[in-house]
Amino acid sequence: MSKDSPFPYDPIPTVRGPVAAADLGVTLAHEHLFVLSAEFQSNFPHLWDREAGVREAVRQLDEAYAAGVRTLVDMTVLGQGRDIALINAVAERTPVNIVLATGVYSVDGIPLFARFRGPGAAVEAEDPLIELLLRDVTRGIADSGVRAGLVKFACERTPPDAAAHRMAACVAEVHRRTGVPVVVHCDPFEGNGVALVRLLEKEGVPAGSVVVAHAGDSADLDGLRALADTGCVLGYDRYGMTPFAPDEQRNATLAALVRAGHTAQLLVSQDHPVHIDYLTDEQRRGLYPHWSYVHLFERVLPLLLKEPGVDEETVRTLLVDNPRRLLTRVAAPRPSGSHPEVSDAA
Ligand SMILES: [Zn+2]
Repeated sequence: MSKDSPFPYDPIPTVRGPVAAADLGVTLAHEHLFVLSAEFQSNFPHLWDREAGVREAVRQLDEAYAAGVRTLVDMTVLGQGRDIALINAVAERTPVNIVLATGVYSVDGIPLFARFRGPGAAVEAEDPLIELLLRDVTRGIADSGVRAGLVKFACERTPPDAAAHRMAACVAEVHRRTGVPVVVHCDPFEGNGVALVRLLEKEGVPAGSVVVAHAGDSADLDGLRALADTGCVLGYDRYGMTPFAPDEQRNATLAALVRAGHTAQLLVSQDHPVHIDYLTDEQRRGLYPHWSYVHLFERVLPLLLKEPGVDEETVRTLLVDNPRRLLTRVAAPRPSGSHPEVSDAA
C-alpha cells in the first residue's frame, strides 16, 4: 500500500507490475484476451496459431490505447483457458495495463477437479478451490508472480443451485481474507442477480463489493432497478453483443439508472475476447459484427451522451472512477434510495 494514496489498496497488481491507482486511467472492467478450451488447444495445436494470436491481441490493444484506454481487466478464469504465458507475451508488448482475475467459470457447476471433495461433497473436506484462488490473489498465478485483483464465479441457474451456494462460500472466503471484489456472471434474462447478491451477502460479502456481470443485457428496467437497490455494481459489460441486447437498449436502461442516482454502481465494458475458440473467427464476426475493444468509443458513448442526464462527467465516472474504486477494493457507495423520474426508458 502506498502511504500517500487516498485509496486503501494501492498500487494495483497488473501483469507488468504494480500500477498506482491514480494512473489506471480509462479502464475496461470486463474484457478477455483469449478464451480457450485448454484441453482442445493442447491436444490439437493446429487449431490456433498462438503467435498470430499474440500479435492480433497487441494490435487490438494498441487500437484501444489510441482510443484512450489505459487499463483492461481480463476476466478469463479457470474453465475459460486462462494462460499466463500467453498473457505475459501480450503484456510485454502493449502499453495497456492488464489486470487479471481468478475464479471459476462455474456455469456447468463445480469443476470435476473439486466436485467430489469439499463442503457437501462425497468426501467432506475444506473446499480445495479456496486455497488455489487465494494463492492467485496473494502469491501470484502459477510461478509468474502476477497477482489476481478480482475473484469471479458464474451461475446461470434461477434460483441459484447448490454449486452456486458452494462457489459463493468459496469466493466469500477469498474476499474476506483479501478484500478483492467478487464478480458473478449471472443470468440477466431470468434475472437471478438479486438472489446472487443476497447469497453473497449471507456469506459476508457486502453488496457494494459485488459486481453482477452482464446485468445490462436485461431489458427489464424494473428488475435492473431492484438489482441496483441492493447496492451492488451492475455490469453493462457486453456492449457489442447485440443478439443479447442492442446498444440502444443498454444505453436507455443505463441512462435511467444514472438519472435514478446509481451512477457510482455502473461499469461499462464489452466482454470482448481477441480469440474465443467456441466459434471460428468468421462465425463470430457474423454473430457480433461490431464487437471489439473500441466499440464503446466508436459508437456507444456518442449515443449515450445524447441521453438526458448523461454528460462527460458521467462517462468519466463509468470509465475511470468506478473501475478504480473496484480495483482498489472499495465497496460502491449505498444508493440514495429515491427514484426521481425513471419511467421514460425502454
Ligand atoms: Zn466475460
